[in-house]
Amino acid sequence: LQDKIGNIVKKIDSCGIKFVRLQFVDIHGTPKNMAVPLAKPEDIEDILKEGLLFDGSSIEGFVDINESDLIIKPDPDTFSTLPWRPEEKGVCRFICDIYWPDMTPFEGDPRYILKKALAKAEEKGYEFNVGPEPEFFIVGEDESGNIVPHDEGIYFDVEPVDQGTDVRRELVLGLEELNFDVEVSHHEVGPGQHEIDFKFDDALKTADAVITFKQATKAIVDNMGYMVTFMPKPFFGVNGSGMHCHQSLFKDGKNAFYDPNGKDELSQEARYFIGGLLKHSKALSAIVAPTVNSYKRLVPGYEAPCYIAYGLKNRSTLVRIPASRGNGTRVEFRCPDPSCNPYLAFAALLEAGMDGIENKIDPGEATELDVFELDAEGLAKHGIDVLPSSLWEAYHALEDDEIVKASLGDHVYEQFMALKRAEWDDYRIQVFPYELDRYLEI
Ligand code: GLU
Ligand code: MG
Ligand code: MG
Repeated sequence: LQDKIGNIVKKIDSCGIKFVRLQFVDIHGTPKNMAVPLAKPEDIEDILKEGLLFDGSSIEGFVDINESDLIIKPDPDTFSTLPWRPEEKGVCRFICDIYWPDMTPFEGDPRYILKKALAKAEEKGYEFNVGPEPEFFIVGEDESGNIVPHDEGIYFDVEPVDQGTDVRRELVLGLEELNFDVEVSHHEVGPGQHEIDFKFDDALKTADAVITFKQATKAIVDNMGYMVTFMPKPFFGVNGSGMHCHQSLFKDGKNAFYDPNGKDELSQEARYFIGGLLKHSKALSAIVAPTVNSYKRLVPGYEAPCYIAYGLKNRSTLVRIPASRGNGTRVEFRCPDPSCNPYLAFAALLEAGMDGIENKIDPGEATELDVFELDAEGLAKHGIDVLPSSLWEAYHALEDDEIVKASLGDHVYEQFMALKRAEWDDYRIQVFPYELDRYLEI
């Protein structure tokens, strides 16, 4: 640690940094931070060694007012500067872990929940990697104040139809300053919709990266006079925004999903992992697609899954196995969206997949059908079940799934359920323009 601290002090000194931001997320995955001024670079030492006390009672999903003291302690490996803040007298940022005052980990800290799941898999020799594909819309307001997409572009368009080229350029450059390894950026299917993919990494780094990605994207695009939304389905009748999660397990430095002699060159572990994902997918939905709006995306016909099946090159299924093999062998889970808390989502996905491996859950045969085309009879004939169609259904599935529940731990599970029940109750009593249109003259 002392070496790391020495290097950080040097960087703070050479970059003229005057503030340090200590960042974490609440139960929803919303970034939270406090900024501490640094009178001299060495002031960072105590913060890195001991952390700082803060009041956790106003953070959603954390603690009650009568036990509000928590410690926030930076993870020294997450140092970065923030490209959207001024360089002079600038700011650096750490992602932090949260502890009780006696320095035991706080079980309501989403980062701890993921670390715990990763440690459990590591005991069995596995390292869990995730490559996320977050999609988002850039929006503005029309003359009547309606929120509208900023352009008319569609999939892979070029300028001038794609009006996002400059924005994506700024974003990619900003992300590279934040040490992102951006693989590709492009206009997505929906008008105003974009995607920027970055290289997979271990799940903890990736979860940190998703938070930084969303924050940087919002901040950089806001500076350019537009607004970004990661809402899963902002517009009726066009594709929503997903955050497909490509997952793989490594053992002894090798991809454990790859077996050159296995069927489709997949290992038995890969097949069981898929079995676990499929088996727990209803309960997983509550965590990876956690908003009322998420379920307006998960409907047939928009490249977002709604039926519980897996396929090889099939983009209509919930799980897809992309063609690449060797160390690139991976399983793509397609129902997550960018409104989820990535720490909780990756912990739950890992536990579901590991349950598949431990209990040898056979996923059956891959399907080559376009499952969107199937009606109720066709689904029944092929034994294909349906994902939850609402947050209500999803959180009820979570209540019944001991494995996924346990992946959150008691504290987060109880807080999460209370918040989701309240979210649903709040939503279900609203009256929307659609209903007036349809029923006013009934
Ligand atoms: N936007 C689609 C979704 O909601 C995904 C499109 C794609 O395959 O990239 O999941
Ligand atoms: Mg996409
Ligand atoms: Mg994808």
